[in-house]
Amino acid sequence: MVDPVALTQALVRCASVTPENAGAMEVLEAALTPLGFTCTRLRFGAIENLFARIGTGAPHLGFAGHTDVVPPGTGWTVDPFGAEIRDGVLYGRGAADMKSGVAAFVAAASQRLAAGPLTGSLSLLITGDEEADAVDGTVKVLGWMEQHGQVPDFCLVGEPTSVALLGDTVKIGRRGSLNARITVSGTQGHAAYPQRADNPVHRLVRVLADLTVAPLDAGTEWFEASTLQVTSVDVGNAATNVIPGSAVAKLNIRFNDTHSEASLTEHLRAACARHAEKFDLTVSCSGEAFLTKPGPAVEKLSAAIARATNRTPKLDTGGGTSDARFIARHCPVAEFGLVGTSMHKADEHVPVAQITQLTAAYGAVIEAFGV
Ligand SMILES: [Zn+2]
Repeated sequence: MVDPVALTQALVRCASVTPENAGAMEVLEAALTPLGFTCTRLRFGAIENLFARIGTGAPHLGFAGHTDVVPPGTGWTVDPFGAEIRDGVLYGRGAADMKSGVAAFVAAASQRLAAGPLTGSLSLLITGDEEADAVDGTVKVLGWMEQHGQVPDFCLVGEPTSVALLGDTVKIGRRGSLNARITVSGTQGHAAYPQRADNPVHRLVRVLADLTVAPLDAGTEWFEASTLQVTSVDVGNAATNVIPGSAVAKLNIRFNDTHSEASLTEHLRAACARHAEKFDLTVSCSGEAFLTKPGPAVEKLSAAIARATNRTPKLDTGGGTSDARFIARHCPVAEFGLVGTSMHKADEHVPVAQITQLTAAYGAVIEAFGV
């Protein structure tokens, strides 16, 4: 059977800072192949990805995770790729986010397989492109899975979702995120003769007041209220006696599933049009909001986690985005993993005992789905 701690260590020792693989996929393949998994390496651009499946029957439970990590940065007191265990704590970049999660699922699968043949099937979607642009990773692997009939009935993402204690939180959705840039144009002129100019700053201020005077919504049963934050207002005017010709503002919107990129773009456009005759609006959405509505699958997941950890998880939709936003377009998805307080920090770490507990929790999930 696979030892989840040793496998975490082997993965941490691969310096797989996006887009580098540094042997991480080979480590996983070497663990999965002897268990009977069929491993398919999928290379897109500079990125190594891996799809591994065992069994062909239903239910098909998928697991998604990533082996890439953010750069170590400075301030480490241990080798960031040494995977040293000190006083029962494993240190290294990716120890929490999320090499231990991947290792725990592989170990849980090995335990299930040791208990007898599968009724259904298990698969792993492992990408090397989650931390950076996420262009050549999960999105493209999902496209391949769709083409080859490999989309699971339910997918568990192993990101660190627990807040204080393992099992306290499961994410069943995420807010969307959208950045917008508004450029209002006017007519440049002398500050003493405003009647001969058209001040774009005044117009932009009214647009922004309009957008921020009331909340976007009041929240829903599963989501907090959406938020709109103006992040920058730029005019770049060095003179004191010149009305500038244009003014720019940037804003970020974190939105729930009552909005979409299209509806928010229209909302922004309407506010601009109310106060400015000439404006330019550019929008980029890094992910739509999604929700896996609590039902039998989420109940199975929650009950399994409660059984393994003695904690009933809170169903949450907060925080930033993850690759679950892409998976949600193909199948129901939820995220559950260990406590992630040290993610992306110096001396990233995970208690060894928590890797073992997470393995047990993933084992309970595999059992609960009847695989
Ligand atoms: Zn992660």
